[in-house]
Amino acid sequence: MPIDLTDYAHTAADRGWGSGWPNCVAGSDLATVVSARSGTSLAVRKALAVLVDTLVDWTERPEGGNYRLKPEQCGGFNCRPIDNTSVASNHSWAIAVDLNWKDNPFSFDPQHTVTDLVATVWKWYGFAWGGNYHGKKDWMHFEFMGTPADAAERTQAALVDLAVGAVPGLPLNLDSAGPAVAMLQARLDRDFPDFAHLVVDGDYGPKTKTAVREFQHRAGLAETGDADRITLEKLGLVSP
Ligand SMILES: [Zn+2]
Repeated sequence: MPIDLTDYAHTAADRGWGSGWPNCVAGSDLATVVSARSGTSLAVRKALAVLVDTLVDWTERPEGGNYRLKPEQCGGFNCRPIDNTSVASNHSWAIAVDLNWKDNPFSFDPQHTVTDLVATVWKWYGFAWGGNYHGKKDWMHFEFMGTPADAAERTQAALVDLAVGAVPGLPLNLDSAGPAVAMLQARLDRDFPDFAHLVVDGDYGPKTKTAVREFQHRAGLAETGDADRITLEKLGLVSP
């Protein structure tokens, strides 16, 4: 069952993560994830550590999210309530992370640097994004919305999908959704702004199909609108 990213009626405690602020998660339940590229460290629940590590590695990888984290602007566990409230923050359960907080401020201003590609991929693995809040946006903020069992399941999926050199199930078509579709949409938008104006949401809809067909036309490929291996190779998304 997909993880509901909008279910704010249930707390992390309801979902099996124990107590939050002021009785925050014990230090022995925490792990520190350190990214290989930027050295950014994030303290999160052990049950989420491999998932966060996999997502952070993909986020910073040039052929992945290509979004560099700034170590001094990132954080995870923090034993505190939500600002100006007495409601426990999900940071107090160590199931939330903030990415590049100066670049992605908590604000009514639309200014942020987290890309739709990065946000879409984190969401696929169960993290709600503060950029989707109504009203004031928490652009830096991602919080895990599932249970510990969901975390284990999403971890296994991410380890396969986001591995270096991973090839998705092919072809990608109207039945497809997920990170590979999001990466396809982002690549078409980046390289073909004259015809691709896709929302990078990870859903292979009719507009994605039309853009793929136009790319195939220009590349001299069979114009199916389905992204097969040769199409992804020509786009530089998988290695020949
Ligand atoms: Zn946060």
